[in-house]
Amino acid sequence: MRGLVIKNTGSWYSVKTDEGHTVECKIKGNFRLKGIRSTNPVAVGDRVEIICNQEGTAFIKDIEERKNYIIRKSPNLSKQSHIIAANIDQAFLIVTVNYPETSTTFIDRFLASAEAYRIPVSLIFNKTDILSEAELNYQNLMINLYETIGYTCFAVSALDAKSLDCLVPELKDRITLFSGNSGVGKSTLLNHLIPGLNLRTAEISEAHNTGMHTTTFSEMLPLPYGGWVIDTPGIKGFGTFDMEPEEICGYFKEIFKFSKDCRFNNCTHTHEPGCAVRKAVEEHYISESRYNSYLSMLKDKEEGKYREAW
Ligand code: GDP
Ligand code: ZN
Repeated sequence: MRGLVIKNTGSWYSVKTDEGHTVECKIKGNFRLKGIRSTNPVAVGDRVEIICNQEGTAFIKDIEERKNYIIRKSPNLSKQSHIIAANIDQAFLIVTVNYPETSTTFIDRFLASAEAYRIPVSLIFNKTDILSEAELNYQNLMINLYETIGYTCFAVSALDAKSLDCLVPELKDRITLFSGNSGVGKSTLLNHLIPGLNLRTAEISEAHNTGMHTTTFSEMLPLPYGGWVIDTPGIKGFGTFDMEPEEICGYFKEIFKFSKDCRFNNCTHTHEPGCAVRKAVEEHYISESRYNSYLSMLKDKEEGKYREAW
């Protein structure tokens, strides 16, 4: 039987079979050694083959080739990584201009990481109902910036169900990863998009949001009109540790375009003479905030730091 992994608790997996049943599965012992360098080789979004034995227990026997996957380093095991989710069609990054403010560095790190994983991102600007005029103006500047670069943006309020209608055609029949800093309204949004879901909002305790539990637990939530949302409690972004410093520029689409005109083809766009990127920043063709995000990612890589998007 074949199916889709829709829940991973760390010790067992829920698989929705192509026939429409949900089966709880374990992994076969030897399967863990299949050359996948991960503490947890199967992830939500994986298409798998399962076998059921007479006792009624089911096992995952094989994973189909993945279109993409996102990983995270295990907090305490620096050489181990953990696959959070696979076969993601797109990511929705929920951001807020205020209450709390999402930094442009966080946004840009997330976008660059998603480029590296080849996952298209839409930016969802939430809490538009409580923004001042000045904040709304700032939000429009941000939307203009990111749309010019090529990212789709939506301005919504999770408290106003009508404002979320624009998201439905985007979500329908796709696997969408929801991400965002805590407090931006991710749970409130999901509760509106998935009737009957009832995720806890705001009051989620810090204890619940950290630790071992959240490093392995993830779930795909079915959308009423087809498609799935991947919710990864406690995970704000995803790791960028397999990115080389010289690769980073390629994940900042508009910076990359200018970099082709730099005098040196190994230009890091930090200090070199004849750097077309720095010239474009000075002339405002590249936004200063994007350039600063590029520099901060470059600096982390040069220092060998691992960061999770923010
Ligand atoms: P999460 O941590 O991203 O899951 O955020 P929550 O969904 O728990 O929301 C955090 C707080 O923001 C809660 O008190 C929500 O009621 C509130 N909130 C969420 N979305 C909106 C919104 O669009 N407008 C306003 N005014 N408050 C919101
Ligand atoms: Zn340069």
